[in-house]
Amino acid sequence: MQALPEWLTDNRETGTLATLLSPASTRPLEALAAESRAITMRRFGRTMTLYAPLYLSNYCSSGCAYCGFASDRKTPRRRLEPDDIRRELDALKKLGISDILLLTGERTAAADFDYLQRSVAIAAEKMQKVSVEAFPMSIAEYKTLADCGCTGITIYQETYNRERYEALHRWGPKKDFIDRLETPARALEGGIKSVGLGVLLGLSDPVEDAMSLYRHIRYLGRTYWRAGMSLSFPRMRPQTGGYESPFPVDDHLLARMIFAFRIALPDTELVLSTRESATFRDGMAGLGITRMSIESRTTVGGYYDNEEATDKTTKENSDQGQFEICDDRTAKEFCAALRSQNIVPIFKNWEPVYNGPSLSLKS
Ligand code: SF4
Repeated sequence: MQALPEWLTDNRETGTLATLLSPASTRPLEALAAESRAITMRRFGRTMTLYAPLYLSNYCSSGCAYCGFASDRKTPRRRLEPDDIRRELDALKKLGISDILLLTGERTAAADFDYLQRSVAIAAEKMQKVSVEAFPMSIAEYKTLADCGCTGITIYQETYNRERYEALHRWGPKKDFIDRLETPARALEGGIKSVGLGVLLGLSDPVEDAMSLYRHIRYLGRTYWRAGMSLSFPRMRPQTGGYESPFPVDDHLLARMIFAFRIALPDTELVLSTRESATFRDGMAGLGITRMSIESRTTVGGYYDNEEATDKTTKENSDQGQFEICDDRTAKEFCAALRSQNIVPIFKNWEPVYNGPSLSLKS
């Protein structure tokens, strides 16, 4: 078995977070919330960056126990063709969205690297910001994606507990724990400008996973100091496989984690998705979270199909998402809720100004 990287057991910088997350901590949640809010206002202002996920394909060669797209599920399989992708992007643009996250399962013949590369190129023609959440790739493949217009990748370790990881990833390429750990660094080596890390809360001890996540982002920040970093806090949601969380995380603990990470990592983007309820998302806006998904569909073809489809097959497929979302408000409703808290929704927060060769993220 391959040895763990040294940074994963390096406790030199974990003091602040460990203290804030300790069950023995006597600091009330309200005090943490106030400090987190003050830091968020200083570093990010009263803003919330918005993005939408776009599922390109639900083919997958892996058997993650907690996922509705695992290869043993009876879910109908589908991938978007170029014209489908353009229709999806147009449906998203109509909602005002110009920052998207393209998703696929693990690499398969139906949805391989070439397919992903073509999809990124199509998306980059229409969107201001294109990120990818897909299978781990080589440095050369990440460089190709960056050249096609991909600026960010999201890759969650799911859990940093190696034994739990082994049990939950029943087969397929995702079973390789070390390869997945090393993926964000490969993406940055390949010229991808930002990486999003996270754990799927509920798979293992949440505080231990949070500490490992912190070590991971600190290691990447030390090595690739020019790179953008974000952290997500997804909790387990109902899905086709019916997997139930053995380590449920309640609202109180999730809020504590968000505040603790904001205090420990003042400049890191913290992300909260539509897995969470409208009430919880509204509560966290301005208190630490700086980026949220909106109008999410976890089905392939969920946006255009939702508007236009009439045929039965497509509608059946639309019911088989990767997991159930919770906050199903429209972009308009969600933005109105943000504005009622004096938070400005941001649909586009940067303009590409440099088209030369990739700058090294290290020096
Ligand atoms: S989590 Fe990803 S890799 Fe695992 S089964 Fe689902 S789509 Fe496949």
